[in-house]
Amino acid sequence: MNERSRERVAWHFIAADEAATRLQASYDQGLAAGEVLNRRALHGENRITQKPGKGALLRFALQFVQPLVLVLLLAGVVTAVLGEWVDSGVIFGVTLINAVIGFIQEGRAEDALAALARSVSSEVTVLRDGCKQRLPSTELVPGDVVLLAAGDKVPADLRLFRAKDLQAIESALTGESTAVAKHGDVLPEATVLADRCNMAYAGTVMITGRGAGVVVDTGDRTETGRISQLIAEAPDLTTPLTRKMAVFSNWLLIAIGLLAVLTFIVGMWRGSSAFEMFMAAVALAVGAIPEGLPAAMTITLAIGVARMAKRRAIIRKLPAVETLGSTTIICSDKTGTLTENQMTVRELYAGGVQTTVSGSGYAPEGKLGDGSEIAGALRECLLAGVLCNDAALSKEEAGSEGKDLREHGEQWTIVGDPTEGALIVVARKAGLDEATLHKRFPRHDEIPFDSTRQYMATAHEIDGQRLAYFKGALEQLLPRSRQMLDASGEPVALRSEEIENAARAMAREGLRVLAIARLTSTTTKTLPALDEHSADAGLEFIGLVGMIDPPRPKAIAAVATCHAAGITVKMITGDHAVTALSIARKLDIIKDGETALTGVELAAFDDQQLRRVVTEVNVFARVEPEQKLRLVRALQANGEVVAMTGDGVNDAPALKQADIGIAMGLAGTEVAKDAADMVLTDDDFAAIEAAVEEGRGVYDNLVKFITWTLPTNFGEGLVILAAVVAGATLPITPLQILWINMTTAVFLGLMLAFEPIEANVMQRSPRRPGTPILDSALVWRIVLVSLLLLAGAFGLFLRELSLGNPLAEARTVALNVFVVVEAMYLFNCRSLTRSALHVGLFSNPAIWYGVLTMAVLQALLTYLPLLNRLFATAPIGVRQWLEIAAVGLLAYIVVGVEKRLREVRQAH
Ligand code: ATP
Repeated sequence: MNERSRERVAWHFIAADEAATRLQASYDQGLAAGEVLNRRALHGENRITQKPGKGALLRFALQFVQPLVLVLLLAGVVTAVLGEWVDSGVIFGVTLINAVIGFIQEGRAEDALAALARSVSSEVTVLRDGCKQRLPSTELVPGDVVLLAAGDKVPADLRLFRAKDLQAIESALTGESTAVAKHGDVLPEATVLADRCNMAYAGTVMITGRGAGVVVDTGDRTETGRISQLIAEAPDLTTPLTRKMAVFSNWLLIAIGLLAVLTFIVGMWRGSSAFEMFMAAVALAVGAIPEGLPAAMTITLAIGVARMAKRRAIIRKLPAVETLGSTTIICSDKTGTLTENQMTVRELYAGGVQTTVSGSGYAPEGKLGDGSEIAGALRECLLAGVLCNDAALSKEEAGSEGKDLREHGEQWTIVGDPTEGALIVVARKAGLDEATLHKRFPRHDEIPFDSTRQYMATAHEIDGQRLAYFKGALEQLLPRSRQMLDASGEPVALRSEEIENAARAMAREGLRVLAIARLTSTTTKTLPALDEHSADAGLEFIGLVGMIDPPRPKAIAAVATCHAAGITVKMITGDHAVTALSIARKLDIIKDGETALTGVELAAFDDQQLRRVVTEVNVFARVEPEQKLRLVRALQANGEVVAMTGDGVNDAPALKQADIGIAMGLAGTEVAKDAADMVLTDDDFAAIEAAVEEGRGVYDNLVKFITWTLPTNFGEGLVILAAVVAGATLPITPLQILWINMTTAVFLGLMLAFEPIEANVMQRSPRRPGTPILDSALVWRIVLVSLLLLAGAFGLFLRELSLGNPLAEARTVALNVFVVVEAMYLFNCRSLTRSALHVGLFSNPAIWYGVLTMAVLQALLTYLPLLNRLFATAPIGVRQWLEIAAVGLLAYIVVGVEKRLREVRQAH
C-alpha cells in the first residue's frame, strides 16, 4: 500500500478494538520487532519535515541592516560620488567581507544551537514484543502501542484505548489552553478535532494521569504535520549583553557622527579643502566603528555553548550562557540530581517487624533477613510494592565480548521510576516474580502517582476479593489508615507512634521511606472506582520500605566549588525532611544544627515572611512543585539570580520564572524540557556547576574582546582628530584603517574567544547583574592604550616625515605601529587582572596562530607591490621595524605595570 494514498480513517468514530484490528496491533503485546521493521520501511521515520526558515538571502541582507554597517555603506557611496574609486571599492569590499563573516558565523551558531536542542531527544514508552521499552519518538510506526504519563509530549497521533485521569493541553494544535479530559470511548463521526477526546495528537502534552493508545499516524501524516506551517524555528541569538552592546554602538555612532562633523568644521576653519576634510571625517567614522564586534560576540557565545555541551549541559536559550555567570543561588532537586537515583531497598518494616535486605544495585541478588520463608505482612508489603508499580526490570543481553554480564552488576536496568524499580528488585530477592504476579492479579483501576498528591494506588482482585494497594509518602498514608497488619497479616489496631518512630529511624540514616497500605472491601464484594477520596474510607497500614539513594560523588565536590564561588546551593525536594537533611549534610549543603522547612510550613508564610526565611533556610522538604514558583519569586525579590532544576509537569512554571530553568535530560518530562533554558544530559548536579564555570569564562572572554578592540577604534579616531587639529596630513588613510580593523579583529581579537577559563573564576563572587560591562579599571586601561597608540603612531609618523621620508613610508610605519601594539596588547588582554605569563604563555595556541598570520599579512602589505598600490603603503627598513617594535614593547610593559599596580593595591 502506498503511504501517500492511504485513506484517512475517522479513528475517533471506530471502537478501540476495531482500531487495533485495522492496524494489526495487539494492546497487550505491542508490535513484534520484525513487523516494526516492515512498517518503518513503509512509513519512514516519525518526524515532521521542517519547512525552511528565513531564506538565506534575507538573512544575508539583514547583515547590512545594522547602524554601524549603514554608516560604512554611506561613506562608500559618498567616496564613490567623489570619484575615489579605490577607497569606495575597498569600503564596499570590507562591508561585504564583514557581512559574509557575520552570515556564516550566525548560521553556524544557529545550527549548533538547534542541533543541540534536537540532541535532547524526546523519548516515549512503547510496548513491543510484550515488553515496555523507552525509545526515541522518531522510531514509532503506526500500530505501536504507546504508554502515556503526565508530562509526556504526545509523539504521534494516537487512538486512546485506556485513560485514567488523563488530561491534555492541546494549544499547540487547537489554540485552546485549558486542559481537555481524555477517554477511550467512541465518538460521533462529525466530532471536530478539538473535541475528539479519544484521540491524542502529536505535539500536544499530557498534564495529568496515565493512558495508552495505538499509533494511527506518524510524521507528516499527523494532524500537526498536515496543518502546521512549522517553520524551522531559528533560535534567538540575542542576549542581554549583545543588546547592551547594540545600545552602546548606537551611542558610539552618535558620538562618532558628532566628532566627524567637528573634524570637518575644524579642518575647514583651518583652511583645508572640503574634499580633504570629508575624507578625514570618513576616516574617523570608519576607524572608530568597531566592525568586528557583533561577529566576535556571537562566536564567543557559540564557543561557550559548545564547551557547555561537552560538559553535559545543553543550552536551549542563548541568554542562559551569560546569566549562568551571574547565578547567585542554585535550587536543586535531591533525587537524581544530587543523588544517584539508583535506589536499593535496605530495610523493610512490616507488621511491626524490621527486616534488613542485602545486595546492592538492581541485580536481584541478596536476601531478606536470615533468608527464611516470607509470609504475613512482609509478603503483603512486597506484593503491594510490585503490583502498585509501573516500572520494569530487565537484563541486558550478553555483553560485547560475550562475557556473562552478571559479574558486572550494570546489566540490570530499570524502565521507569527507580523508586519503583527498587521494589521489584526486593520482591525478586524474596522470590516474588513481578511478571507472574501482574498476570495473576491484573490491574482493574488506578490513581496515578503525582508529586502533589504524593501517593499512587492500584486495584486488583486477589483470592476473589477486590482490594487496592497504596504506596506513597508516610504523611499521606498514615493519617488515612485506621488499622494495621500484624506480623501474620491479620488486621489489628493501628499503632501510629511506633510506625512513625520506625520511619524516623530509617530517614535519619538517609534512607528514602515509602509507606505501603491497602484498602479492602469487607462489606461488599466490589470496590468502587478509585479516586482521590477512596482512601478516606480507611486504609490498612502494611509497612514501610527504606531505600538508599547515595549522594553523587561528583555532586559533593561541585557543591564545595559553588560555595567557594559565592553561590548558595539549596535543596528543594518532595522527600521527607529528615531524609533530606541527612543527604544535605553528606553533601555539605548545610552545617550541623541547620533545619529544614517543609511545604506545610512554607504555605503558612505570606510573601514578605517568605522573603526573609528563604535566605536562611537551605533545605526545603515535602515541597509541592507549585511551591517552587513561590520560592523562586521570593529569592528573586531579594535580588538573587536563581537557577532552578525541575523534572515534572508542575515544575514548568518555576522553570520559566527562574533566571535559569534547568530540566533533567534523563528523568525530566518533555514539558519540563520545553520550559527550560538548559537541559542536563546526565541529570548530574555537577553539570550545573560546570555550566556556571563556563558561563563565567564566556563572559570574561567577551569582556576581554571588548577591552581589546575599543582602544584600536579610539586610538584611530584620536590620531585623525589630532592630525586635523594640528593641521597635519592624515597619518593613516580610511583604507588603511579598514585594513587594520578587519584583519586584527579576525586574526587577533577573535582568538580571545578560545581563551581557556582562568583558574580563579570559581573563587570570586558572582557578577551582579546590572553592573556595567566595563568597570572603571578597564575604562582607564582603554583610555591609556588609546593614548599610547596615538603617541606611538602619530609620533613615529611625524618622525618619518621630519627625516624627509615619503608620506607612504611614514603612513606604513604608523599603520604597523597600530598592528604591533594591538598584537602586544592582545597578550595583556588574555587575563583582565593577571599578567599574560600567569595564564601560561602557550595555554591558548590560537593566539599564536593569529599573531603569526597577522605578521605574514603585515609583511605582504608592506612589501607586496600590488598591496602597496592598493593601500598606498611602501616598504620600510630595519630601523623603522625596530622603532615600531620598541613602541609595541613599551605599550605591553606600561599596561603590565598598570595591571600589577592595581593588583597590589587591591591586595591591600
Ligand atoms: P525530589 O523532589 O528531590 O526529586 P522526590 O522524588 O522525593 O524528590 P517527588 O517525586 O515529588 O520527590 O515525590 C514526593 C514523595 O512521593 C516521595 O518522597 C515519596 O514519598 C513519594 N513517591 C515518590 N515516588 C513515588 C512513586 N512512584 N509511587 C508512590 N509514591 C512515590
